[in-house]
This record gives sequence, structure tokens and C-alpha cells, in this order.
Amino acid sequence: MKQLENKVAIVTGGASGIGKAIVELFVKEGAKVLIADLNEDSGTKLANSLGEATVFVKADSSSPEDNKKLVDIAVEKFGALHIAVNNAGIGGDAATVGDYGLESWKKVIDINLNGVFYGMHYQLPEIEKVGGSIINMASILGQVGFAYSSAYVAAKHGVVGLTKTAGWEYGTKGVRINAIGPGFISTPLVDDNLDKETLTFLETQHAMQRLGKSEEVAELALWLASDKSSFVTGSYYPVDGGYLAK
Ligand code: NAD
Repeated sequence: MKQLENKVAIVTGGASGIGKAIVELFVKEGAKVLIADLNEDSGTKLANSLGEATVFVKADSSSPEDNKKLVDIAVEKFGALHIAVNNAGIGGDAATVGDYGLESWKKVIDINLNGVFYGMHYQLPEIEKVGGSIINMASILGQVGFAYSSAYVAAKHGVVGLTKTAGWEYGTKGVRINAIGPGFISTPLVDDNLDKETLTFLETQHAMQRLGKSEEVAELALWLASDKSSFVTGSYYPVDGGYLAK
């Protein structure tokens, strides 16, 4: 029996990296998946490669209206909503707090934190009707600081707090809500924005002396989405090759 048979999921930022690996694994496990992303080319290509179990919808995670639209379309197309992975995110500036661009601060908070709130705000009433699971993509940087990344770190700490609070609020309402904290994972977000020297340094910050793979994060998302994690809510789960262990 597939683990997500007859389940309907939304995955934001589903066209690339970690989100894409989650979409692919969820479909393999029997779910119907609405892939949401700003990148229309990659999202359409992915949906076409996976067939009728998926639909791509262009949507901006920082827009409340777009988040509402995603829930409406998922229900209209697939009949219900059981699972949401609020995963869309960006990196932002590399600067000290004193030098950090004010517009960049707002943009990172809008996508990485407000986007998760808007997502849950519209997903929860629908998921509550049938029971299910929400997974918010935090980071190891939702637990510890990281120089020159204030907006990203603040947003990810916010995602962890929001997850704990929502987990409490919905503990008896049939919706489990958890956050995932990946270490540095080899995706376009990391590979395209950091030079080789930085990537080599980051490898040494993980006990396993390497970066993670998107598929390794997707396995944790699957467990949290499935009934196998039935007594798990309001929690933060690292998948970080030992980054936080030092
Ligand atoms: P990625 O850049 O490969 O994928 C992110 C996707 O989100 C892209 O397809 C992009 O088009 C989409 N996106 C960006 N802004 C959007 C918006 N406003 N609305 C909708 N979609 C938008 O990055 P990734 O590494 O797969 O990151 C996915 C999530 O994992 C992010 O929240 C990121 O912060 C988190 N994360 C990544 C790492 C890492 O090392 N890669 C570590 C910890 C946490």
C-alpha cells in the first residue's frame, strides 16, 4: 500500500530543489499534488513529466490571494486537501544588519515567513474538514544564527514559532503541523549563489562532511505527511547531517 494513497497535497516552491523532490516522492507514494511556484517553465515541465496526478499553478507565496487560490484549485480539481508543504523560499542579501537592504529584508520576510502564515491561514479550514498534515520548511537557521543572513534567519526562526503555535491550536482538530530544518542542501538556491570555497567550508560544518540531497529532505516530509507520524505535532525536525550537533 502506498503511503499517500487518496491524499491531496499542495507543495509551494515545488518546481525546484527540495520542493521538486517532495512532489516526486509524494506522487510516487500515491498522492495527487498541486505544484505551486513562480517559475512557470520548470513547474509546467515537472507537472507534464508526472502526468494526471499533478497540476501546476503559478502562484506567489507572498500573496494572500494566491494562497487562497491554491486551496480552491486543489479542492476543485482533486476533491479535498489533506497535506500542505509550505516550502517556497529565497536566500536574500549577504550583509550585516547595518548594511542589509530594507527592501530585501521585507521581501525575504514576505516570502519565507508571511508566505507560510498565509498558506496555513487558508489551508487549515480545508484540511480540518478531512484531517491531515502541514509541513513548513524551516532550516537549521531556524534554530541558530548565521552571519550576514539576518532576514533569512529571522524568517526561519519565525516559521518554527508559528509551527509550534499552530500545532498547539490544532492538536485536537485532526491537523498535525510540523517544521523541517534542513542543513545545507545541494539545490539551485545554494549551488548557484555560493562560490566553491564557501561550499567546501559549509561541507565541513556538517558532521557528515557533505551537503545534503533534496531526496533526503523529501523522505522526512513523507514521514511527517503520512499516518506513520500520527503522534507528532508542533515539532521541529532537523535533517542536517549533524550540523546542529556541534
Ligand atoms: P530552490 O531555489 O531550488 O527552490 C525554491 C523554489 O521556490 C523555486 O522553484 C522558486 O521559483 C520558488 N519560489 C521562490 N519564491 C517564490 C514565491 N514568492 N512564490 C512561489 N514560489 C517561489 O531552493 P531550495 O533549496 O529547494 O529551497 C526550498 C526551501 O528549503 C526554502 O524555503 C529554503 O529556505 C529551504 N531550505 C533550503 C536549504 C538549502 O540548503 N537548500 C536549507 C534549509 C532550508
